[in-house]
Amino acid sequence: MAGWIWPGLASPGNRQRVRQGQGEITARARRWMLLLSLGLLGSGWWWHHTQVALPVVRPAKVTPAAAQEPPVPWVWGVQRVIDRQWLAQQLRGLPPGTAVYAAQIEPGVGGRPAYRFYEAGLGAFSQQFWPASTVKILPAVAALEWVHAQGFSRQVTVVWPRRQDTLERIIDRAIRESSNLDYDLTVQLVGLDWLNQQFLSPERGFPTTQLQRGYSGTFDIHTSPRLILRQGQRQQWIPPRRAQGRGTCPAQGNCANLFEMTEAIRRVVLHAELGEAEQFRIPTATAAWLTELLCRAEPSFLAAGAKMALGGTPRICHKPGWVLSKHCVDSGVILAGRERYLLAVAMPAYRAGDNCRGLSQVAYQVLRALRTTPPVGMPHQPNEGVPVRAQLLPRHGMYEVVVQVPDASRVVVWLDQEFLGEQTGAGPEYRWLTHIRRGGERLLRVQAWQGTQPVAYYSRKVTVEPPIASCSDPPIPTPGRVHYRGSSHLPRVALSFDDGPDAKQTRRILDILQQEGVPATFFVQGRMARRSPQLLWRMQAETHEIANHSTNHRSLVTLSRAAVQQEIATTQALVCQQVGIRPRYLRPPYGHFDRTTRELAAQLGLSLVLWDVDTRDWQHRNPQRIIQTVQDQARAGSIILMHDIYSSTADALPQVIAVLRAKGLEFVTVSELLGSPDP
Ligand code: ZN
Repeated sequence: MAGWIWPGLASPGNRQRVRQGQGEITARARRWMLLLSLGLLGSGWWWHHTQVALPVVRPAKVTPAAAQEPPVPWVWGVQRVIDRQWLAQQLRGLPPGTAVYAAQIEPGVGGRPAYRFYEAGLGAFSQQFWPASTVKILPAVAALEWVHAQGFSRQVTVVWPRRQDTLERIIDRAIRESSNLDYDLTVQLVGLDWLNQQFLSPERGFPTTQLQRGYSGTFDIHTSPRLILRQGQRQQWIPPRRAQGRGTCPAQGNCANLFEMTEAIRRVVLHAELGEAEQFRIPTATAAWLTELLCRAEPSFLAAGAKMALGGTPRICHKPGWVLSKHCVDSGVILAGRERYLLAVAMPAYRAGDNCRGLSQVAYQVLRALRTTPPVGMPHQPNEGVPVRAQLLPRHGMYEVVVQVPDASRVVVWLDQEFLGEQTGAGPEYRWLTHIRRGGERLLRVQAWQGTQPVAYYSRKVTVEPPIASCSDPPIPTPGRVHYRGSSHLPRVALSFDDGPDAKQTRRILDILQQEGVPATFFVQGRMARRSPQLLWRMQAETHEIANHSTNHRSLVTLSRAAVQQEIATTQALVCQQVGIRPRYLRPPYGHFDRTTRELAAQLGLSLVLWDVDTRDWQHRNPQRIIQTVQDQARAGSIILMHDIYSSTADALPQVIAVLRAKGLEFVTVSELLGSPDP
């Protein structure tokens, strides 16, 4: 005990009381943890509160939408919505080894900010840089949370064996002057294990960042000596601690990425505007005080570029870092009137030049691009606003988007960065079909509007089945058969419709088929399918078969081999892209084909399908004659030829179905009729 300073602890009795006080807090913390594990884990409330070992209980404010399921981890969501292309295109000539992360901040719902995220070079989530002093913000915030959790404020005096100072002064020097000693003191105060396991945890929004390196060389940050916290009449002993966890960051360095570094600053600077789940557990006044320090942190490698791009004198609240032989780094929030940005840049120091000025050049290019180009995509915000429910329901390889919003006039839906469509009109329910090209875990995102005002942002994790066919796989060749009809041993027929999809008649025909519960086969022209992908989606979702009728409906026997190949392959690819299946059948326009047609079709995995009942609907356009032809000619195994581009055909269809049913025939697709094995 020699050499320790214990001001205000004159009598042994006094010390005893302080020890009891410490014991009480520990017991209370244990009880609290028990409560958590018993009751609160399943409630959806756990997400931002579980990892706290200290007795801070706040009432959870849960919106109805958020109450249904645990919110999506913010980092996971941002990784799915961040734009990886646009900024990279703007920043041609970015020095090798440079990482850039940027976001536009705009007014969101509920008075909270929304964001558009971008990255370039090595990107926002790369760890390939030396974070240097930028990490000093993390133990500073952790220390503030830690003392607040124990009932002290930033004015608390921390007493070490050989020094004492207020936390406020320690953090001031660590942030504004980037003092290495004061950084180490903040780490020692909270303890390295608490810092890495409780504060820098995935649940708190820091899945990557781990600190394991002291910067001053004065003492080992893996051990914390016995400390006293003293403020006013209160004192508290903190027993010595030794970090159990040993970090796994390379080269005994600190693990960090630009995104998480910038998150720390974003959550301090925007504290008053954020939802409780995002806020650090510090008072608003403390966040404002820390913001001031960040805005005065020296030097700012971004300042000159920001000033040039935005004009005036933008306020830059940031934490720079610079190791001569390694990297220049700066990350923070840039405020210029109503314009607000997040920006972080890391660049190898030898490429950045004197005083890291390369960062300023990048800042100029990024900010100029962000403010002069109209934004694309949908902004992102943690769930907020009127309650939203959103689902993707599988429909035979297609998906039905179902959104429920009580008070809205429009909904816009995205899957990660893929636009899934929008619908206008009063809710509460919006539904439409779509095709999804990539399977796996995705982020389903909804923006709901009331007039010109967004009223909700909502996102949730969904799992999407991959499409049946991968359109880049080479097709499996077939023997290239020609079919005119199926087996007559079973009482089945196939209705087939050529030349569509047509916006009006195909829709009518699909409605009738749906009403009657009858499947059909649609031989689509590529040029038509391109105009109406929604009709292809509907055909697929309603279990009809989609087949190939060439792209431009030219007689294939009049074309060169290359042109025939093109006519067939284009439509194959188009259908595959739109609905994720590969057609199995080609019906050559006008029924014209030759040896070349058969060879090329076979190479693309197609057999030829003609017909045995021709209604000649294209010629006479007479519903009665269509019905009569079917009545006279159709029999078991028939393939009936019609066209889904004439109103007369749609007019005749209910009666055609009735006539065939009266003959005791069942309806199947061409594949089923021909009994083709699955490819
Ligand atoms: Zn045709």
